Amino acid sequence: MEIKKGIAVSPGISIAKLLIIDSEDYRIPRRSIMPSQRMAEIQRVRDAFRAAIDQLSKLEAAEDDADGGKIKDIFAVHLRFLHDRSLRKRITDLLQSKLVTAEYAVSVTLREIASHFTKVKDSYISERAADIYDIERRLLKQLLGGKREDVEHLTEEVAIVARELSPTQTAGFNRKFVKGLATDAGGRTSHTAIVARSLGIPAVVALEDLTECVSGGDTVIIDGNRGIVVVNPDEQTIRQYEEYSHEFVELEHRLGAIRAKPAITRDRVRITLLGNIEFPDEAEIVLQKGGEGIGLYRTEFLYLNRESEPTEQEHYQAYAETVGVFKHRPVTIRTLDLGADKYTQSKRFAPEPNPFLGLRSIRFCLQNLTMFKTQLHAILRASVLGQVKIMFPLISNLQEMKQARMLLRDVMEDLDEESVKYNKDIEVGIMVETPSAALTASTLARDADFLSIGTNDLIQYTLAVDRGNELVSALYSAVDPAVLRLIRTVIQDAYKAQIDVSVCGEMASEPEYIMLLLGLGIRTMSLAPPMIPEIKQIIRSVTIEDCNNLARTVLGMNSERQISNYLRDATRKILPEAF
Ligand code: PEP
Ligand code: MG
Repeated sequence: MEIKKGIAVSPGISIAKLLIIDSEDYRIPRRSIMPSQRMAEIQRVRDAFRAAIDQLSKLEAAEDDADGGKIKDIFAVHLRFLHDRSLRKRITDLLQSKLVTAEYAVSVTLREIASHFTKVKDSYISERAADIYDIERRLLKQLLGGKREDVEHLTEEVAIVARELSPTQTAGFNRKFVKGLATDAGGRTSHTAIVARSLGIPAVVALEDLTECVSGGDTVIIDGNRGIVVVNPDEQTIRQYEEYSHEFVELEHRLGAIRAKPAITRDRVRITLLGNIEFPDEAEIVLQKGGEGIGLYRTEFLYLNRESEPTEQEHYQAYAETVGVFKHRPVTIRTLDLGADKYTQSKRFAPEPNPFLGLRSIRFCLQNLTMFKTQLHAILRASVLGQVKIMFPLISNLQEMKQARMLLRDVMEDLDEESVKYNKDIEVGIMVETPSAALTASTLARDADFLSIGTNDLIQYTLAVDRGNELVSALYSAVDPAVLRLIRTVIQDAYKAQIDVSVCGEMASEPEYIMLLLGLGIRTMSLAPPMIPEIKQIIRSVTIEDCNNLARTVLGMNSERQISNYLRDATRKILPEAF
């Protein structure tokens, strides 16, 4: 039995056989082979090339010329690469001389070529690197095919263990069979953690070397409440965890009873609790948990699990389905937040040097106008079905805000010309996720109908701490005095401008921060659906006066640790089960 400690990111306990999976972009570890395995590995390379050529030829033949033959041309270029004998020879030479696996030889060779391309000044050539990565991926898919099948066609309950997972992978898991997640990498607000929480799968991240300590088929306990993973537990530990699990389910059950009750403080101040979702079918879960609408719909997930861009009609259907669940309650549709750790298929293999500071989110949309307008068109069409709001992510200056609004007006004009109905008074808000937006909130508020504080990104950009990096996770805190000052500024500026302000980052899902947020003036929170009952219970147990006093005390403190301890103690008195 081995016990590993990480960061608890999604509550609950799972006891299951584990399945180790590779990261989606197939970063292949170096594995050696015996000299006697050389011929078999070379044969695997040949088979992979043959299968990839076969697959591509079929795809090329099936493409029509509707787009001027662009896709057909891309397939033809890839096929030329795959038919190039010198490429195959380079791979097999490496395999023979270094005695490494077929996967490793393919990956190293193609990445070397891609990196060579990237350095060429001519943009036409440097952009071909993406093609090479695509070819690498196709070959690796052939070589690793069997392992991926495991995840796609599960027939029994498993706990997934991986070095790291992408949000796309996590979102694609079959919820019926995937009972827990544990990764070496990641942080509390990494998107994988957020998706796990939304799906209600217990998860622990930042376990550092877990993948090196386990083998497929081992039994693991994933304790998403305490951040612990137990590998091959003994009988007594299993019994103890079965008991914990039972207690947890009972707590959930008890909290479930407050579902229909309002989120109102003891001194009768009404708080609005909304849900964060990634997929339309989660809207129903928000409703079941007692949420009153959607405060953050992360629409980029429409893009992540597929090869091609969604059509306008697919956007519309997803929004219509979500709005249908809430009828006349708010559904806040955040426009695409692609980039950083959420890549489209076409962008995935051309990573930027600093993706979180790069072409992500609203910046990406403002450079991909057709895609952006398609989404806006669909949101506006859906706006007549209920109380739809639009929210732009990662606005970091006034110019971006004005540009985004101008595009929205353009799309409105298009709809007018097409005589399509939409809500002309649709509320348009922005997420405050950067220090620059927080510090200029009073200016941005003049052009916005509401502000929503995205604490996940605001923390990372304020403290210069990558939200997904386990090596610096101890530095990542919502209650660092610097972050709290920015949050307070945004709330005060929104009050002055008389517009709504909410928090939709994970801070609003954390029991120990709720009293503080109330004391700072927050009256609307949007959070992970499974957390709604617990947060409501806290709200119903406090008075605003107590919260105001608590916030005043906290704002006078200078150390993150002191604030954290103080808030934990205060919350423990109200809801001991939360810890
Ligand atoms: C945030 O940054 O706080 C947020 C809610 O957006 P996301 O987690 O999707 O980046
Ligand atoms: Mg964000």
